[in-house]
Amino acid sequence: MIEFDKEALKQRYTAERAKRLRPDGNDQYLQIEGHLDHYLEDPYMPVVPRESKTDHVTVAIIGGGFAGLVTGARLKEAGIADVRIIEKGGDFGGTWYWNRYPGAQCDTTSFIYMPLLEETGHVPSEKYAHGPEILEHSRRIGRQFGLYENALFHTRVTALEWDEQRSRWTVRTDRGDAFTAQFVTTGTGPLHVPKLPGISGIESFRGHSFHTSRWDYAYTGGDSTGAPMEKLKDKRVAVIGTGATAVQCVPELARACAKLYVFQRTPSSVDVRDNRPTDPEWFTDMATPGWQQRWLENFAAVQTGMLPEEDLTRDGWTDIARRVRSKIMMLPAEEWTPEGMLRAFEDSDFEKMEEIRVRVDAIVRDPATAQKLKAWYRQLCKRPCFHDEYLQSFNLPSTELVDTDGKGVERITETGVVANGVEYEVDCIVYASGFEVGTAHTRRMGFDPVGRGGVRLSDYWAEGMRTKHGMFVHGFPNLFIVQVQQGANLISNVPHNLTEAGKTIAMILTHAADAGATEIEVTKRAEDDWMELLNSGPGSFLGTTDCTPGYYNGEGQPTVHGRDFLRGFPFGATAYFQYVDGWRRSGTFDGLDFRGERDTELRRRSVVSCRA
Ligand code: NDP
Repeated sequence: MIEFDKEALKQRYTAERAKRLRPDGNDQYLQIEGHLDHYLEDPYMPVVPRESKTDHVTVAIIGGGFAGLVTGARLKEAGIADVRIIEKGGDFGGTWYWNRYPGAQCDTTSFIYMPLLEETGHVPSEKYAHGPEILEHSRRIGRQFGLYENALFHTRVTALEWDEQRSRWTVRTDRGDAFTAQFVTTGTGPLHVPKLPGISGIESFRGHSFHTSRWDYAYTGGDSTGAPMEKLKDKRVAVIGTGATAVQCVPELARACAKLYVFQRTPSSVDVRDNRPTDPEWFTDMATPGWQQRWLENFAAVQTGMLPEEDLTRDGWTDIARRVRSKIMMLPAEEWTPEGMLRAFEDSDFEKMEEIRVRVDAIVRDPATAQKLKAWYRQLCKRPCFHDEYLQSFNLPSTELVDTDGKGVERITETGVVANGVEYEVDCIVYASGFEVGTAHTRRMGFDPVGRGGVRLSDYWAEGMRTKHGMFVHGFPNLFIVQVQQGANLISNVPHNLTEAGKTIAMILTHAADAGATEIEVTKRAEDDWMELLNSGPGSFLGTTDCTPGYYNGEGQPTVHGRDFLRGFPFGATAYFQYVDGWRRSGTFDGLDFRGERDTELRRRSVVSCRA
């Protein structure tokens, strides 16, 4: 049992948070545009010239990551043939297409993180699969469900406009396409727009630099499968940022560089990873029909405080939940109150974070460096990290932690990085500075849908996102937004939210086809009721305003859009999945208006069935 002084810890957390609070919140970051555009270029695949499209499809899916892939797969299963995925990358994979930095791997168990495992028959090679395997799995889904046939890669949607006369969307892209789609689904991802820290002088640096989501193996040598980055052996490299990405790529860089400086503003909490190869015998015994759905439901249940007999995934995420639950179970009867439970949650968090700090001391040999690597905030204030080599990297003489005591890097010069008044000369800067989260949803989508009556989504959402199920927006017929917010909000396993959304859309379109409906739209009343329900809940316990700043809490300065982030079904993810299952199965799709009697293209396609 680890001993700690709760009051002293609380004071330390408050003091550390105060150091990091800044009035500019999300505005501190640089949007990558104009002369910084080169940070967005695709280093992985060349752009292949092609003819522009001016045709019509039944469903256009914007985004070829997991959201687009699972939706496309379910639609194909439902018999809808002409599905077109539009993807800004050169292939499917979304985040796994872009994030090919060395050491990339999933942080949630592969068995629930990788979608459609049963359907594809793929057996993850490790408990936490590495990036190349996940990217290949994305391609596998694309191949198996025929999603390559009509896909447009290296293509960014620039405009989406509802054509009221013809009940369809006009889709325009940066490749000159202007085609129409009866239905559009968007799966643009929560973390796909890279951002740079707002540090002056970024443009002046004369060495090499790139963002982690555009890893330049031509410069570093090696590749995403783990081949050593031999071109770095005589290079001095700076990594700016110590979030989940840096935690994964720092060990690889530390092994490769002549000198590695890790610039830290806030340390991550880094717990045990405990990765291991999949035992084929265990897998065969375990993988009886329906296994992945059972695992998904089990994970969600453990995460949302239900009491399943078994914790199938047994990973860092479920460990957090199990601890909280056991603390609550230990409460005397008179403390079974909301306050008592919050206290139990807090105690479990203090304990866990103390363990994580003790782990730093046990691994990092230099006591001063160890001190600086300790995280002083509640675990769910920032994205928890899990790794068995990150902390060890700081034992290598070539790796140096440059802790900025919450202040961050001061500036970039022609030759290096300045922090704490000292210039560190480097050959290369790697920006592990993350992705836009708190900015407007429409800015992150990269286009601003124009719905019925010429209303822009950005205007409709000027006071924050409004939806039913996070998916349907009044005034935007035949548009389905596939993402986690305002639905289950299970952010520790995003793909679960997406696969459920894919099922929902396939069932709705099947119903529309059967009913001969050309338009599907959520009623204003249903949207208002949903928002009222969401707002009646306590909101997310992640990144509350008393947390140290980060993207979970709008960098400590909640904005309209920052507040959107993480608001979900008030009764938890499991309750949401059960609710939405019932809603779909009822066949009435309460709150949606199905309009139009005409014999639609969709109807002609004789939709056969849709798996529930
Ligand atoms: P993050 O936003 O988590 O991290 C950005 C880092 O940059 C932070 O450490 C931040 O410090 C630092 N930073 C920003 N400005 C400055 C500055 N001026 N000076 C110094 N440091 C600065 O981005 P990541 O790419 O690491 O992760 C984003 C998300 O992507 C994760 O939270 C996770 O959801 C997802 N991800 C998932 C993975 C997986 O599942 N396998 C792996 C990697 C990422 P500060 O903390 O002080 O703001």
